Amino acid sequence: MRAVVKERRGPGHLVLKEWPEPSPDHTEVKIAVAAAGICGTDIHILDGDWPCNPPVVLGHEFCGTVVEVGDSVSNFHPGDRVVASNPAKTCGACYHCHAGNPFMCDKRVSAGYMIDGAFGEYICITEHRCHQLPSEVSFRQAALGEPLSAAVHGLIERTTVRSGDLVLISGPGCVGILAMVIAKLQGARTIVLGITKDARRLSLAKELGADVVVDVAKENVADVVHDFSSGDGADLVCECAGVPASLETCLQVVRKEGTLLQLGIYSRPFEADFNKIVMKELKMVGSFGYVWTSWRRSIRLLRDGKVKADRMISHELPLRDFAEAFRLTRDGTATKVVFNPQVD
Ligand SMILES: [Zn+2]
Ligand SMILES: [Zn+2]
Repeated sequence: MRAVVKERRGPGHLVLKEWPEPSPDHTEVKIAVAAAGICGTDIHILDGDWPCNPPVVLGHEFCGTVVEVGDSVSNFHPGDRVVASNPAKTCGACYHCHAGNPFMCDKRVSAGYMIDGAFGEYICITEHRCHQLPSEVSFRQAALGEPLSAAVHGLIERTTVRSGDLVLISGPGCVGILAMVIAKLQGARTIVLGITKDARRLSLAKELGADVVVDVAKENVADVVHDFSSGDGADLVCECAGVPASLETCLQVVRKEGTLLQLGIYSRPFEADFNKIVMKELKMVGSFGYVWTSWRRSIRLLRDGKVKADRMISHELPLRDFAEAFRLTRDGTATKVVFNPQVD
């Protein structure tokens, strides 16, 4: 089969090549990938600053049709439309596996960088990470299920957005924009921050319901938040950019006794003013990935048309255009590129 493969560690080394077609073990389903999205993590992997295990097929946001199942798979059958997620493998026996939070498992292995992912015609993954797609949910929408589930986990399961809250989101990537959509559904007002390169993403955030979008290079965020909150600050700030300057802004504009939700991942350790956590009596919450219930909620939100996730998709491309797809993602031209690996 054809697949986009990271061949070696370090920057670059991404090629489209013939790759062995996988076959399912006892607990796995084999999925013909119908849609697979590129995300910021894939850019980090391309640049060599995200752990990966080359040679490996990239792609961890995907959905498709089951074509074969392992002999102990009971809940899925060929022909089922499914969306699936990481972690592809866990120990199944530790505290966190038992508690239903597989992303916390020390032995977790993720598809798309540690083992083969979905930028190929087929992927095999354990049935425990698969979810049936209702007929109302298109593959285009389901391709966004992964970032949507990350947003749901952060804003609904790890913390609480209350009706009437002011929620500020710093970083208008896919998770950031979907976090804004979730905050709006919960009845909050929202401000989304970005940089000049994010112009397209900021205007998409506005189209999808953000009350205010701010280019931090052009406007003073503290003034905007002050005016929008009668001087109190934001009830919840959601750091989705993973850069130190963004955290600094978040700590500045969150109201006293407010909450900082950390969704972005930083590329290295850095200094931050933690006295703000103490002196503003902030709650600080981390959110990493999602759990089974996050997917349950996201699929229902998609089914009911409450989240129109496919509005994020700016480009649909075949795998052979992978270099272009990564370039469009990196430079901010694309809000979301989705591959259809079945198209030659
Ligand atoms: Zn992702
Ligand atoms: Zn475990």
